[in-house]
Amino acid sequence: MKFQALNFKCPNCGAPTKFSPAFGKLKCDFCGSTFPIEESVEEIKEYDYHAALEKLAENKKELHEKNVKCTSCGSSFTLSPYSISTLCPFCGTPAIVDFVHDITPQSLIPFIFTQQKAKERFKKWIGSLWFAPSALGKYFRGNEKLKGYYLPYWTYDSNTTTHYSGQRGDIYYVTVTRTVVQNGRQRNIRVQEARIRWTPVSGRVGLSFDDVTIGATHTISRVIIDSLAPWDTTTLKPFDERYLSGFEAEEYTIGLDNGFEFAKAKMRVSIERSIRRDIGGDQQQITHVDTAYNNVTYKNVLFPVWTATFEYKKKLYRYAINAQTGKISGEHPYSYVKIAFAVLAAVLVAVGLFYLDQNGY
Ligand SMILES: [Zn+2]
Ligand SMILES: [Zn+2]
Repeated sequence: MKFQALNFKCPNCGAPTKFSPAFGKLKCDFCGSTFPIEESVEEIKEYDYHAALEKLAENKKELHEKNVKCTSCGSSFTLSPYSISTLCPFCGTPAIVDFVHDITPQSLIPFIFTQQKAKERFKKWIGSLWFAPSALGKYFRGNEKLKGYYLPYWTYDSNTTTHYSGQRGDIYYVTVTRTVVQNGRQRNIRVQEARIRWTPVSGRVGLSFDDVTIGATHTISRVIIDSLAPWDTTTLKPFDERYLSGFEAEEYTIGLDNGFEFAKAKMRVSIERSIRRDIGGDQQQITHVDTAYNNVTYKNVLFPVWTATFEYKKKLYRYAINAQTGKISGEHPYSYVKIAFAVLAAVLVAVGLFYLDQNGY
C-alpha cells in the first residue's frame, strides 16, 4: 500500500511546522512563527466494548510495512506497519500517514514536557539513584537525543459485581498453663496466647472503574510502560494530526481484547482489596471469586512519552518519561560496591542489636 505523507506548511514561509510542547502550538522551524491548534468542542466519548469486538471479528485487518511518499521532497521510504507519524529520513519533514486499524484514537494527551525538560529530569533521576554507580552521573552528559512518541493506550471503564466466599479470622486470647523452670525448680505459670477463630463468610462487592489505562504497544517494555502511570485523562484533547507533527506515533499492536485482560488484572487488585475490607476481622482468606464485568466501555488514545537508551560499560539501558507529568521509569546499572556496603552496614546494625540484646540492655 502507498501512503501519502501529511505535513503542515508554515503559511508565512512555507517551511514545515512541528508541534511545540513549549508553546502548545504548531511552530515553524524556519521563521519561528507559531500557530494555535483550535480546540474542537467535541466531547471525548466512551465506546461499547462488546459491540467493537464483534465488529473487529468481522473485519480483521493485518498490518504490513507502509510505503510512504514524502510530499515535501518526493522521496519514498518504508515505515514500520504500525507507525503513523515520523520524520522523512531524507529531508526531516514531518510525515503523518493514515491508520490501518478500524479503531483509531479519537483523543490524545499532547506533549507538555519539552525534550530539554525531559533531559533535565533524567539527569536528576540518574543522580538520585542511590544504587547507581557514581560515575554514571558524570558519564551522562545529557546530550543523548530523546525520541518523542505518541504511544497507543486503551482505557477501560466497567462496573464490576463480585461474589466471593472465604474465611474471616478473628484473633482471640486464651489463658494457658505452661511449665517453666525457674531457679532450678519447675513451676506452672499462666500466659495469654493468641489464637485465630476462622468463620466462613461470603458476600458481594461492587466497584466502578473509570479509565483503567493499558499500554497497547510493544515499543517499550510492559514494566516501563506500566510504571509511567498515572495519566490524567481529564485533559484528553480530541484527536488532531497536528499534535503528532514532528513526533513518532503508532497505532495499537496489542488488541482491544488483550488489553482488556491486562485491565482485568489491574481491576482484580482493587477488587481483592475491597473484598478484604468487606470480610473485615483481623485476617482474611479468599477462596472463591466470581466477577461480572458490566457496562464495559473503552477509548483508544495516544499518550506522549520521551524515550531513550544509554550505554554504560557496553550495556544498553532503556528509560522513558511520561511527557504529561515528567514521571520517569527505566533500567539502570547497579553499583555492586555500593550494594555490598549497604548489606555490610545492615549486617553490622543487626549484629550490634544482637549484641545489645544479649547483654540485656
Ligand atoms: Zn515559517
Ligand atoms: Zn522528505
